[in-house]
Amino acid sequence: MDNPAIGRILRDMAYDSDILIVGGGLNGPALALALAQGGLTVTVIDARPAPTRAEKGFDGRAYALAIASKRLLTVLGVWPQVAAYSQPILKIKASDGLAGQGAAPFFLTFDAAEIEEGPMGFMLEDRFLYSAFLDAMTTTPGITLLSGETVTQQETTSNGASVTLASGRRMSGRLIVGCDGRGSGTATRAGIRRHGWGYGQTALVTAIAHDLPHHGIAHQFFMPEGPLAILPLPGNVSSIVWSERDDIARQIQALSDDEYLAALRPRFGDFLGEIRLAGERFTYPLSLSLAEKFVLPRLALVGDAAHGVHPIAGQGLNLGLRDVAALAEVLVEASRRGEDIGAIDVLERYQVWRRFDSTILALGMDTVNRLFSNDNPFLRAGRDIGLGLVNAMPSLRRGFIRQAAGLAGDLPRLLAGQAI
Ligand SMILES: Cc1cc2nc3c(=O)[nH]c(=O)nc-3n(C[C@H](O)[C@H](O)[C@H](O)COP(=O)(O)OP(=O)(O)OC[C@H]3O[C@@H](n4cnc5c(N)ncnc54)[C@H](O)[C@@H]3O)c2cc1C
Repeated sequence: MDNPAIGRILRDMAYDSDILIVGGGLNGPALALALAQGGLTVTVIDARPAPTRAEKGFDGRAYALAIASKRLLTVLGVWPQVAAYSQPILKIKASDGLAGQGAAPFFLTFDAAEIEEGPMGFMLEDRFLYSAFLDAMTTTPGITLLSGETVTQQETTSNGASVTLASGRRMSGRLIVGCDGRGSGTATRAGIRRHGWGYGQTALVTAIAHDLPHHGIAHQFFMPEGPLAILPLPGNVSSIVWSERDDIARQIQALSDDEYLAALRPRFGDFLGEIRLAGERFTYPLSLSLAEKFVLPRLALVGDAAHGVHPIAGQGLNLGLRDVAALAEVLVEASRRGEDIGAIDVLERYQVWRRFDSTILALGMDTVNRLFSNDNPFLRAGRDIGLGLVNAMPSLRRGFIRQAAGLAGDLPRLLAGQAI
C-alpha cells in the first residue's frame, strides 16, 4: 500500500473496533472509557444484562477506592456522578481481636492528616460505581456495549483478533482484552495457566446501621478465623467484610437476621452503639488466582482476570484500575506513534509495568492473611509487637499510607489525574 493514510483507513474498515473487551464488570468499563478518550474505538461484551448489576440487591460490595483510583475516575468523568454517594476514609485502625474480647491493646492507626493529599481513600457502593460506568459507556462516542452476550470462542492471527458470541455473532478487532474476572475464559481459551489457591474462607458482606457516627474511620479486626473489616459509608452506616472459615460462614449465612446480628455483635463490639442490618446479606468465597502471563500477541488481561487477590486490604479493584491506567497509556501512545497495538512488543510494555507490582501485592496480602488468621499465641504476640512497632514509626506509617492510597511507585498518567 503506497499511501499510508489510505492503508490505515482500509485496515480500520476491516475491524468492528480497535479493541474487543470481554467483561463489562468494573475494570472493563473503566478501560473502555480510558481508551475511547484516547481516540480508540472499543466494543465491550458482557454476559450480564446491563441493568442487573445496578439493582440494589445485586452486589453488596462497597469498595475502598484509593486516592489514585479517584483521580482516574475523575479524569474519566465518572467521579462527579458518584461523589455524593462516597464516604471519605479519614483513618484506618487495625488491631488483633478475639470475639467477645474486643480489640487487643496493640493497634496500628493510619491517619489521613499524615499525608498532604487529603483522605486516604473513599468508600463507594458497587451499584453506584457500576451505574455511573454504564451511563458513561452509553454516552461516550467510540464505545459499543453488547450486554447479555457471552463470548464463547476467540481467535488471534498476525493481523487481528476476533471473538464469537453465544448468539453466533462475530466481532473483530486488533486486540482482545480479558476483563472477565478471576475465572477468565479469555485466559483459559488462550492457554494461559493460573496459579493460586482457595483460602478456605468466605467473606460475609452486608451493610450495618449503627447509633453512633463512625467519623470516617475504617476498622480492621484480625480475628483467628479471618479478618473483620468495618468500613464507613455515608451516614451512620458501615459496610462489613466479615471473613470466616467456609463451614462457619455457611452456617452464619443460613441464620435469621436476628441470629446473624447476635453472631456479629461480639466480633463487632459496641464502639458504634447498637447495630442493625441496613442491606441484604451476601457471601463471596475467597481465593488467590494469578495468571502466569498478562499478555500474548493480540491479547491482554486486566483486573481480576490477571490477579484475583484476598480483600484483606481492599486493594483488588485498585490494582485493576492501575492495570487500566497502564494499558490505556501504552495502547494510546502506541497508536499515536502508528504502532500495531496488538503487537507483542507493545503489550510487553504493559506486562513489564504491571506484573511484578500486582504479584508482589497479591502475595503480600496472602501473607498478612496467613499471619493474622490464626490463634497461635507466639504469632499473636509477634504480630501485636509488629503492629505496635509500625505504629511507633511515623516514616514507616507514612509509607504504608502512601502505598494504600495508591500514590507509591511509577504512576501512569490517569492515576496522577492527567489525561493520556
Ligand atoms: C468481599 C470483597 C470485598 C472487596 N473489597 C474491595 C475494596 O474495598 N477495594 C478494592 O479495590 N477491591 C475490593 N474487592 C475486589 C473487587 O471486587 C474486584 O477486584 C473487582 O470487582 C474486579 O472487577 P473486574 O471488572 O476485574 O471483574 P468482575 O467484576 O468479576 O467482572 C467480570 C465481568 O466479566 C463478565 N464475563 C465473564 N465471562 C464472560 C464471557 N465469557 N463473556 C462476556 N462477559 C463475561 C461477567 O459478566 C462480569 O461482568 C473486593 C472483593 C471482594 C470479594
